Amino acid sequence: MFSCVEDLGHQVEWCGHPYEALELVSKKSYDIVVTDLKMPDMDGLSLLRRIKTINDDTEILVITGYGSVENALDCINAGAVDYLVKPFSVEQIQVALVKTIRHIELKTLAKEREHFLEMSYEDSLTGVYNRRFFDEALRLEIIKSTRQETPFCLFMIDVDNFKSFNDSFGHQMGDEALVKLGKAFRQVCRGYDIVTRYGGEEFAIIFPGAPKEMAQNLCERLMSEVRNMAQELPKGPDSKALSISIGVSCFPYDAKTPHKLIERADVALYHAKHSGRNNYQICGMF
Ligand code: GH3
Ligand code: MG
Ligand code: MG
Repeated sequence: MFSCVEDLGHQVEWCGHPYEALELVSKKSYDIVVTDLKMPDMDGLSLLRRIKTINDDTEILVITGYGSVENALDCINAGAVDYLVKPFSVEQIQVALVKTIRHIELKTLAKEREHFLEMSYEDSLTGVYNRRFFDEALRLEIIKSTRQETPFCLFMIDVDNFKSFNDSFGHQMGDEALVKLGKAFRQVCRGYDIVTRYGGEEFAIIFPGAPKEMAQNLCERLMSEVRNMAQELPKGPDSKALSISIGVSCFPYDAKTPHKLIERADVALYHAKHSGRNNYQICGMF
C-alpha cells in the first residue's frame, strides 16, 4: 500500500499501533491519516476523535471491512473525510487520496480567501474596520433596523487640531495617536458595535440598537476614555491634550438613508467644532 501512495509523490510513515499513531500526530502535523477501524486496544472511531482533538486539520480516511460499513458512517459523522471498504485495489486508494488532497487544497483556499476578505475590511494602521466596511455596514444596518423596527446611532468623530499635533510631534507620533484612539473607541464599545476609520483622522461608529437617549451617555464615555488615553501622549504647544469632537445622528428619527445620516451627523460635528471642539453634539439637540 505504501508504494502506491509514494508513487503519487507523497511521504508516508507507518505505525503498528493506535497509541503510536497518537504520539506521531501530537509531534507533527500530518495532512492525512489512513486508519483501519479494527485495531488492538483502540478502535478506529476513538482514534479518529482523538486525532481530531489534537489537530482538526488532519484529514482521516478510514478502512473498514465489508460487514461494518455502519461503523464507517459513524466515522464520517465524526469528521472522517471518506472510507474505503476492504478489499480495495491500489487504484481505489489512490483515487481516495487524490480526492482528499483536492479537498484539503479547497479548504486551504477557502481559508485564505476568508483571511483576505477580513484584511480587505481592516484599516491597516489602527486595526478597526475601514471605510469600505463602514459603507457596507451602514447600508445593512439600515435594512436590519427597518425590518426589526429598532433604532441605531451613528457617531462621526474627528480629532481636534490634528494637523498641529502632527506638526509639533511628527507624523509617526500622529499615527501612534490614531492607533491609541482606535483602541480607546473599541474599549468603550460592545462586540457588536461597529468601529471604523472613516478616513484620515476621522472615525465613524455605528451603535446598533442604541436609541437617541443613549447617545449622550455613549459620547461621555468616549470622551472620557479619550481623555485618559491622551495622558499617554505629548501635549500641544498650548499644553492642550489631544481631544476629539463628535457629531451624532440617529436612525430613523434624523434620517433613513446612509447619505442623509452621515450628512446629519456631519452637521452635528460641525457644531461641536464651532462650539470650541473637545465636545459633542447630537442632531436635533442644538
Ligand atoms: P480640526 O480640529 O478642525 O479637525 O483641525 P485638524 O487640524 O484636525 O483638521 P485638518 O483637516 O486641517 O487636518 C487633519 C490632519 O490629519 C491633517 C493630516 O495630515 C492628518 N492626518 C490624516 N490622516 C493621517 C494619518 O494617517 N496619520 C497622521 N499622522 N496624520 C494624519
Ligand atoms: Mg478631519
Ligand atoms: Mg480634525
